[in-house]
This record gives sequence, C-alpha cells and structure tokens, in this order.
Amino acid sequence: MQVGFIGLGAMGAPMAANLAARLDTRVWNRTATVAQAHADAHGSQAVEELTDLAGVDVVCSCLPTTVEVEAVARVLAPALEEGTVWLDHTSGDPQQARDLAAWLGGQGVDYLDAPVSGGTDGARAGTLTVMVGGDRDALAEVGDVLDAVAGRVVHVGPSGAGMAVKAVNNALLAAALWAAAEGFAALEKAGVPTSVALEVVNASSGRSNGTENLFPQRVVTRAFPNTFALGLLAKDVGLARATLDAAEVEGPVLHLVDRLTAAAASALGPDVDHTELVRMVERATGVELH
Ligand code: NDP
Repeated sequence: MQVGFIGLGAMGAPMAANLAARLDTRVWNRTATVAQAHADAHGSQAVEELTDLAGVDVVCSCLPTTVEVEAVARVLAPALEEGTVWLDHTSGDPQQARDLAAWLGGQGVDYLDAPVSGGTDGARAGTLTVMVGGDRDALAEVGDVLDAVAGRVVHVGPSGAGMAVKAVNNALLAAALWAAAEGFAALEKAGVPTSVALEVVNASSGRSNGTENLFPQRVVTRAFPNTFALGLLAKDVGLARATLDAAEVEGPVLHLVDRLTAAAASALGPDVDHTELVRMVERATGVELH
C-alpha cells in the first residue's frame, strides 16, 4: 500500500514517521526542506509537487484548517486514481468537510474526516485516538494506515461528524483550563500554592487532563512547551460554538469560553502554547500559579 502524507507539522511529522516505518510513504510539505529532512530522518520519500502524490492508495492530510486542505485537494484530486481514500487528520470545519467530501466524491475520491487527539506525545507513540466521519466501507480500507498512527479508532457518524466531535472535545479542554486557572488563582490568594491544590484536586472529583497533566507539566513549571498553538485551540473552540449554533443549542458556557479563548489568542499571539491562556487569569488577578 502506498500512502501520501501532506503537512509535516507538530502532529503530521511524527504521524508520517510512524507510517514510513511500516508502509511506502511519500511526504509533501509547503516548505519543501521540511519534507526532505523528514525523508532523511525517517525513510519517507519527499516529493516537491503535490501531483507527485498521484498513484497513492491513501492520502493523509494534517493542516491547520479545512481551508488549506481544500486548497491542496483542488490541486491534487484530479491527479488521483478512482477509489483513492483521503484521510483528513486536520481538526477542521464540519460543514466545510462535508462540502469537500461531496466535491472529492465527484472526483472518485472517498474523503473521511479523521481528526485526532492525544497530542504530540500520542503522535510520536502511534497511540492517537482517531474520530472518523464518513463512509464505513472506505474506513475499512484504511485499517493498515490507521494501525500505524492510532491506539483507538472510533467511527462517530456521517461526513463532518468527526470534525464536530473534535471541536467539542477541544472546547471541553479549553473550558477546563479556564475554570482551573480561575480556581487556582483564588487559592493562591488564599495562601494555597497551585502545586499543593493539584495534589488534592487530582485525587478528587475536580480533576481533568488539564489538572493531571497540563498544569503540573507546563504551568507550575512555567515551561509552557509549545506543542499545540493557542491559535489552533481558539479555532477549535470557534468551531465548537458554530456546531452548537448549527444545532440550535444555546450554550452560554461554550460561547463564553470561545470569547475568552479568542481574546487570549489575540492578546498573547496565536503561536504560544495553548496552556499560556492561564496568563490572562494571572494578569487579571495579579498572581502567578506555582
Ligand atoms: P503546525 O502548525 O505544527 O503544522 C502545520 C502544518 O501545515 C505545517 O506542515 C505547515 O507547513 C502546513 N501548512 C500551513 N499552512 C499551509 C498552507 N497554506 N498550505 C499548505 N500547508 C500549510 O500544526 P499542528 O501539526 O500542531 O496541527 C495540525 C492540525 O492538527 C491542526 O488542525 C490542529 O488543530 C490539529 N491538532 C494538533 C494537535 C497538537 O497537539 N499540536 C493535537 C491534535 C490536533 P510549513 O512547514 O510550510 O509551515
């Protein structure tokens, strides 16, 4: 089986490395030197033109938004063979993904929205959770590809459903980060260091991925390693808000989380790690979370 991988960023590069360890994998990246470095390090084959991916059985993409995926699809799809499956690992827009699936279907290409969770650690370990929207038969054809990158694959519904689940998941992540930052700021003012509060919360019912992993590893250490950009999280929460709106669910909590996260990305810049949003609470309260 031949695979083509588009987008060798923080997630795409380790995913494509795991694919190249098992399958014949060609890689394309907007910045071509990144693709060549990937080939040198991981045994993939770098291609310079998107259309050099013609002939692969499966195309994987992992780009910032569906807008970039659509742009590469317009160039590549006419060169693909009938029956090619396109696995889009981007955290994208559900409606745009449905439209893209329909257009690619007209070109004989089966598009599956297949965003991932598990972060860069999960991408390196090949243990990502993949949430798939679209045709089950097409999904059955790409088992070997998903085995190389995923620990869990869940078919969640029709086209666009994978994107919707991903957006809601990340809105829950953002909500938990904001709520924890506010609570810990109040506790710092009451004389309780965040590291001490975390010992209690993580043995209690208020715990989350944020309190168990992100606060201890990134916030309390003040390391804020940049693995998932705040701008990308803000994009995801915006997609979640749009998903609620489309379903006519009022959602005051997630609307507020959307406004806060968008404001943080604009104040701190989109490229900092997503956990740096706690700095907004620190600035407003005058305490640092340690
Ligand atoms: P990065 O910013 O690290 O990488 C983005 C990739 O997209 C790069 O390969 C970049 O190429 C390419 N790219 C950007 N703009 C364009 C364009 N206009 N045309 C073609 N290629 C382009 O992002 P991540 O890997 O972090 O995220 C990718 C997707 O995965 C996003 O949807 C994100 O929300 C999602 N995600 C991220 C997670 C994480 O922990 N980082 C976890 C789960 C999902 P170039 O090298 O030229 O800049």
